[in-house]
Amino acid sequence: LPNRYGTGEKSVWVEYIQFAAEHKPAVNLGQGFPDFHVPKHITQALADVVTSDNPLLNQYTRGFGHMRLVNNLSALYSKLIGREIDALNEIVVGCGAYECLYCAILGHVDKGDEVIVIEPFFDCYEPMIRQAGGTPKFIALQPKNDGHNISSADWVLDEAKLKSLFNEKTKMIILNTPHNPLGKVFTQKEIELIADLCKKHNVLCLSDEVYEWMVYEPNKHIRIASLPGMWERTITVGSAGKTFSVTGWKTGWAYGPATLMKNVQVVHQNCVYTFNTPVQEAVARSFEFELARYDSPDCYFYSLAQELTPKRDYLVKILKENGFNPTLPEGGYFIIADWKKLENKINLNDQPEKYKDFRFTKKFAKESGVLAIPPSAFYSEEHKQLGENYARFCFIKKDENLALTEKLIKEWY
Ligand code: PMP
Ligand code: GLN
Repeated sequence: LPNRYGTGEKSVWVEYIQFAAEHKPAVNLGQGFPDFHVPKHITQALADVVTSDNPLLNQYTRGFGHMRLVNNLSALYSKLIGREIDALNEIVVGCGAYECLYCAILGHVDKGDEVIVIEPFFDCYEPMIRQAGGTPKFIALQPKNDGHNISSADWVLDEAKLKSLFNEKTKMIILNTPHNPLGKVFTQKEIELIADLCKKHNVLCLSDEVYEWMVYEPNKHIRIASLPGMWERTITVGSAGKTFSVTGWKTGWAYGPATLMKNVQVVHQNCVYTFNTPVQEAVARSFEFELARYDSPDCYFYSLAQELTPKRDYLVKILKENGFNPTLPEGGYFIIADWKKLENKINLNDQPEKYKDFRFTKKFAKESGVLAIPPSAFYSEEHKQLGENYARFCFIKKDENLALTEKLIKEWY
């Protein structure tokens, strides 16, 4: 294995999906995906596309994004960012937000470049930066206090530490809001601080906004690309998997100024070249459907967050009542919960894993039937201990599975 891939260790996803297949937990709150309905108009759109009389809809399409989809993305984000986004030169569609992140990182980061990464972070950022020859520089969000009723807003960055990471080698900072795994929705003030540092040090911002529509009242999602002087230095990434609750469709996009998107295009064209046509056409039609009812509360962009709010509150309550100390998320669909107080109820010594949260989540799944993800996977090697006392639970699940979670955790507790 070439050095740039590190030790070639399995990612937490490979490991935990295999674990779930072997141990068949009664409820899987691990990897993030909905276990319930997908809006009917979305699945119907795909069925219509693949069986349509137009044979071209099942053939290759334009490499940087199917025209109907990039036109819809341009319509939506032009409105949200407050400027005309060129569908041909300022948007790239790829295989999930994942591939778009890869193209944005590989297309900009070079040997010797530094990339600032906020911990905990979606785990693929680090290997992608290293593959590009770059060096990640980590800074952790930390809870202001470790009391009860903590929310993701209580997890904050040390401003002085953040400032100290910017230097002449800094190429990029990766922002993820709403945040996985904390659910933090960065405030205007926090985003302005990052924007000001990017402008001052001539640094790019890669903004991972896949959970842009999962924001719970009264929080507001702020797109850093819409701040003054930020469009020209920001690439924003989104996901149809998250937007329309179809994670298996693996359709993502990146948008930004043509000067930066040119580099994203190069990596994409030399990797997958073009993403599948029928799914892009179906996502385009789904956007048209939602854009036509954009001002109505029925629009899926808003109704999904409404539907998720009671699920979030229910899972937080279950965790609180059973010895966990969860952080109430302001966005996204994960809850991070501290399990320190449960340590005397579980024997972790017979588990081989290096990190305590890996031992806890596996043992807890075997004993209770509820699977969660170990958050130390979202920290750099030197900061793993910051995640070790937590477990991440996904709440985009059917009410009956959340009720089953309550029953199982109660029985275990
Ligand atoms: N970024 C974050 C923060 C995520 O949680 C995910 C999870 N899927 C992705 C990117 C990748 O999204 P996709 O499934 O569209 O590749
Ligand atoms: N984003 C999802 C999660 O965090 C899925 C991750 C993945 O499939 N790599 O659980």
